[in-house]
Amino acid sequence: MKKPGRSYWERELYNQVYDLVVVGAGLTGQSLALFFKRKHPEANVLVVDRGFYPLGASTRNAGFACFGSVTEHVSDMQIEDEAKIIDRIRRRHEGLNLLRETLGDANIQYEEPGGYEIFTDEASYQQAVANIDLCNSWLEKATGVRNVYHATKYEGYPAIKIEMEGALHPGKMVNTLYIKNLKEGVKFRWQNKVKSIDTEEAIVRLEGGITLESKHIAVATNSFTPELMQDVNIEAGRGYVFVTKPVTNLRWKGTFHYDRGYYYFRNIGEDRLLLGGARSIDIEKETTRDFGVNQKVKEHLMEFANDILSLPESWEIEQEWSGIMGFTETKSPVLKKIGSSSLIVAGLSGMGVALGMQLGKEGAGIISNWL
Ligand SMILES: Cc1cc2nc3c(=O)[nH]c(=O)nc-3n(C[C@H](O)[C@H](O)[C@H](O)COP(=O)(O)OP(=O)(O)OC[C@H]3O[C@@H](n4cnc5c(N)ncnc54)[C@H](O)[C@@H]3O)c2cc1C
Repeated sequence: MKKPGRSYWERELYNQVYDLVVVGAGLTGQSLALFFKRKHPEANVLVVDRGFYPLGASTRNAGFACFGSVTEHVSDMQIEDEAKIIDRIRRRHEGLNLLRETLGDANIQYEEPGGYEIFTDEASYQQAVANIDLCNSWLEKATGVRNVYHATKYEGYPAIKIEMEGALHPGKMVNTLYIKNLKEGVKFRWQNKVKSIDTEEAIVRLEGGITLESKHIAVATNSFTPELMQDVNIEAGRGYVFVTKPVTNLRWKGTFHYDRGYYYFRNIGEDRLLLGGARSIDIEKETTRDFGVNQKVKEHLMEFANDILSLPESWEIEQEWSGIMGFTETKSPVLKKIGSSSLIVAGLSGMGVALGMQLGKEGAGIISNWL
């Protein structure tokens, strides 16, 4: 087909200069758009995404509204100093409060069924218990809440209870945000993959040949960012999740973590179990931006469900999927200016339910200061 060109009317309508183009309609990008538009109701704001719906992590995650388990915090000490860890906990806690306030608990099916980290060997449990006081002091500094972690048992396993941890429905979370954006007048273009971004000229080039001009650009493409910005160091991490068919007498009710947060599971409704993670067992293959199922990871998680969670023999997987996370070297997200008037907000390092809206709001604030 020959290139159709543009009519007089199309030129008048579509050859416009936007005030802000956001690339990526995940939780982070849509939050940035919402808070910017709320601050500048007259602004012409457009969000562009390559998917028919967001296609990264925001609607494909496990829905843990969490601020970290004890073994996760302790393992973070290998890569970051204490002040940064405390700051991240604060951001996660504030981010969750902001998310709940902005979207409403009922709309996102938010609940607090009880959070636990479980252990299968005594030595790692004792090591974690020895760090409970330290982690509680971090939580208190970051949130003001005391005694968030305490030793307990769950289903016969040594465990650490995590107070205040919640769970939500990620699909409803993103959809509620989308509806709020539409109400504020934010525009969306779905199924438009961005091919390149000129941050000096503030131009976004789409794969279909269309060029968008904007005063400001926000890049919120998380794990996919290096495809657009080669000098940004964000490593992809694929996450695998399955949900079972109804399980008779499901005993695991709540949100659960295992092994530094690499494994996670929760009940969905009364009788289904969501189980995910374990990319740590095949980390090289799971360092990818390609969606898909790694049989080794899947079989390992099935064994985990049998041997550790002791699901009844007849249990079956009903649905499975993968999503892609973006990790920075230190797990602290990237939020920085690029070029003369653009911003990058990415690398949420597997914590985006808690961090996404907060970072989006911070990004919107930074761009507002440039006006
Ligand atoms: C399996 C799994 C389980 C998880 N569980 C949890 C959890 O329980 N709790 C938690 O806090 N976090 C969890 N996470 C992490 C969390 O989902 C992410 O940190 C968060 O969703 C990141 O949001 P985002 O908007 O920054 O990125 P994304 O949701 O990845 O959004 C990026 C968007 O950019 C778009 N895009 C990419 N490239 C282009 C392009 N060239 N042109 C146009 N659009 C483009 C994509 O289509 C996508 O919609 C999990 C992640 C996975 C994968």
